[in-house]
Amino acid sequence: MTWETVIGLEVHAQLATKTKIFSGASTAFGALPNTQACLVDLGMPGVLPVLNKGVVDMAIRFGLAVGSSVAEKSVFARKNYFYPDLPKGYQISQFELPVVIGGQIHIELDGGVKKTINLTRAHLEEDAGKSLHEDFEGASGIDLNRAGTPLLEIVSEPEMRSPAEAVAYAKKLHELVQYLGICDGNMQEGSFRVDANISVRKVGAELGTRAEIKNVNSFKFLERAIMFEVERQIDIIEAGGAVVQETRLYDAAKDETRSMRSKADAMDYRYFPDPDLLPLIITPAMIEKVKGEMPELPDAKRTRFIEQYKLSDYDAMVLTGSREIADYYETVVAATGAKDPKIAANWVMGELNARLNADSLDVSESPVDASRMAGLVARILDNTISGKIAKDVFEIMWTSTDSADAIIEAKGLKQITDVGAIAAMVRGVIDQFPEQLAEYKGGRDKLFGFFVGEVMKATKGKANPGQVNQILKDELAK
Ligand code: ADP
Ligand code: MG
Repeated sequence: MTWETVIGLEVHAQLATKTKIFSGASTAFGALPNTQACLVDLGMPGVLPVLNKGVVDMAIRFGLAVGSSVAEKSVFARKNYFYPDLPKGYQISQFELPVVIGGQIHIELDGGVKKTINLTRAHLEEDAGKSLHEDFEGASGIDLNRAGTPLLEIVSEPEMRSPAEAVAYAKKLHELVQYLGICDGNMQEGSFRVDANISVRKVGAELGTRAEIKNVNSFKFLERAIMFEVERQIDIIEAGGAVVQETRLYDAAKDETRSMRSKADAMDYRYFPDPDLLPLIITPAMIEKVKGEMPELPDAKRTRFIEQYKLSDYDAMVLTGSREIADYYETVVAATGAKDPKIAANWVMGELNARLNADSLDVSESPVDASRMAGLVARILDNTISGKIAKDVFEIMWTSTDSADAIIEAKGLKQITDVGAIAAMVRGVIDQFPEQLAEYKGGRDKLFGFFVGEVMKATKGKANPGQVNQILKDELAK
């Protein structure tokens, strides 16, 4: 490979406050256009922005989570430009002095390769409004509801070297902001969007000229956009041309990137400190307070799951994929006396996940909540039912509100564990198949499975499989 890909990401995470960053207007998604922008959001003369304290706590939380230094003093500046969705004529954004400086995100790639991506910074800013081009014939609509929505822009160093690394980084960040409770992570609604800066270079050479792909709102698109862009740049250079620094858009329908504006059109934003806002001062006491409220983070949870529940790396990764799934799992384990965390893991990762996926449900919407699931797992653990019967019980639980116990009782599904009863049935089956018995005795060991199957059939699956195996072995040896 002669070409090396270089990627740096800028992620806009919408902070999950109820009100805007500088006003009391609501940030709720989906309201009628222009019903949630107040005079401050519009920058009317004579109004004054007031910083929402909630966004400061969230920025500190993020800074602590990525091991960065939270700035004692940061400053809001005005980024001046004209655009129809920005009636104020400027966006308030931290520029020279951001609130979060440095930090790291640890990613893991296929095959378990680990890598650390350094963050440059994360700064607070307000979002602009939205231009709507689809619903209006020959005209555009402007919806200013989004104006003034708080954003945390998280900027990485140009340290990713493949689309896979970029996706792993974006996913890790996406998981982290949701764990921290600072962003709902909804990519369709634009709560988490990615700008990808991409360049290529000969291995070991200076950084190449980059193109920036704006507002990518899915991981799949991020991967495709980068792949397309890398090919495009290599083709240009190999044909003797030069990549121009520009902003591009990814068109998912055509699976290509297109130029939006070049560096030559780049605006001079004339940044200057916003005279309406005081510098943001963060005291050690404020940081200590947030520290005390920090939830357990994904990496720490993963490590704890591996140690405490003796799970594999993979299981721990799946079970900590979101806070909700982790909480669900731990509720099941706790309610079953932590007897066999691996069986609980199998049920949450296997049956539950499969059923949730089939019905497109989130774990928080599961018809079988953690305590009912625990009721089922408990019956497997105490040998009341086999794992196989448990799957049937689970199916019934999914569409009813009955407990596992009620279903087992009503359907008479209790496992037969009485040695004498099982032995009698085993002998019955052996007597029923004299030919197979003769063949088995003659050396066809494979027929053992046939006998197991027949015994299970005879007991309608209710015999304890371990006992059946043992007793059958004994009886066949006679
Ligand atoms: P800007 O101010 O134009 O947004 P920055 O220097 O702040 O530019 O960088 C923005 C992003 O671009 C960062 O994530 C950075 O890592 C990335 N970046 C910078 N140079 C390159 C490059 N040559 N190739 C790929 N990414 C780059
Ligand atoms: Mg940029």
